[in-house]
Amino acid sequence: MDNENIKTLEDNNLIQVYNRLPVTPERGKGAKIISKEGEEYLDMVAGIAVASLGHSHPNVVDAINRQTKKIMHCSNLYHIESQAKLANKLSDVSCLDKAFFCNSGTEAVESAIKLARKTTGKKKIIAAENSFHGRTLGALSATWKKRYRKPFKPLVPGFEFIKYNDANKLREAVDEETAAVILEPIQGEGGLNVPRKEFMKQAREITRKNSSLLILDEVQTGIGRTGKMFGYKHYDIEPDIISLAKALGNGFPIGAMLAKKETANKFEPGDHASTFGGNPMACSAGLATIKTIEDQNLLKRTKELGNYFKNQLEKLKERKEWIKEVRGKGLMIGVQIEDEANKVVKEAIDQNILINKLGKNVLRFVPPLVIQKDSIKKVVSFLDER
Ligand SMILES: *Cc1c(COP(=O)(O)O)cnc(C)c1O
Repeated sequence: MDNENIKTLEDNNLIQVYNRLPVTPERGKGAKIISKEGEEYLDMVAGIAVASLGHSHPNVVDAINRQTKKIMHCSNLYHIESQAKLANKLSDVSCLDKAFFCNSGTEAVESAIKLARKTTGKKKIIAAENSFHGRTLGALSATWKKRYRKPFKPLVPGFEFIKYNDANKLREAVDEETAAVILEPIQGEGGLNVPRKEFMKQAREITRKNSSLLILDEVQTGIGRTGKMFGYKHYDIEPDIISLAKALGNGFPIGAMLAKKETANKFEPGDHASTFGGNPMACSAGLATIKTIEDQNLLKRTKELGNYFKNQLEKLKERKEWIKEVRGKGLMIGVQIEDEANKVVKEAIDQNILINKLGKNVLRFVPPLVIQKDSIKKVVSFLDER
């Protein structure tokens, strides 16, 4: 089927909630995407910070294949070995103790909100301006963008917003009625905004003083993206709850909420559940993903490549007036530009490079962590020559 036919089929049959770009990926390997027409693209998107080990990484493919041949689904009515092992692994690599598994980022945030309310017996949740936490009604209530919220009101009551990076505003907003503060360690969808370390430390202190919980939404920053296993590790703080999804299964759908023992233990059978949550294929993929990150020393590589990429972009900024700011950590990098980002995305496609944009004026780079230095050079020279 050619692209025109696929597009017609989509237009007639799919609910049109996405603006799609004119590329039809058929295969992927490492940081390369090969389209249906056989065009090869350099992938700086990785399915939006998902395929961190590169597309169809053999370790993850093998882990899933081995599991599909045994059993594809098992209800949480019974014991699931890979689920227990992944929970144990996540507790080993984080400051959190216990896990609940679901199937997406928004579900991980939903569970976090529910757990925070149940644990504290309080209702109020404080989120940040420009936040993104997902699109189910609970997670959407913590999401800032008016465009996403307005058609679906009334949302869940009890949510308030403060300016990201403003500790004074946070201190004014949090009181003894506050169940939790929810923040992204680096805001992703809201424009790739890096907070000051002091703000994150203050958020920890303010929540502790008010017996409120600190939820960090690590759906995008988690599992190595920023050069550390989790974003919170950049700020010398320990959250009470984190949400995970995107990179956890390297492309196999899985979400997770991790919590400190004393918080996690407040959930009892019946409080929360998911038919597919903790599926054996998903958990096998998760285990293989984390193990590969460790075995290949990918965190160190991510930090080094990220610094290299950022330096190159900073140098470019000195020569290019249309580049306004470069920000991010590890291989989660945003470039604020004067031009329309969508135009750059389209020009890049013509040069066989896939780049993602945020809003009107930010280019987002979240490539597979296994990307080669030469590929980064290629992207920098594309920006240089435009
Ligand atoms: C992508 C994202 C979500 C939503 O995840 P879905 O899997 O699309 O539901 C939530 N929070 C953050 C920080 C994200 O980047």
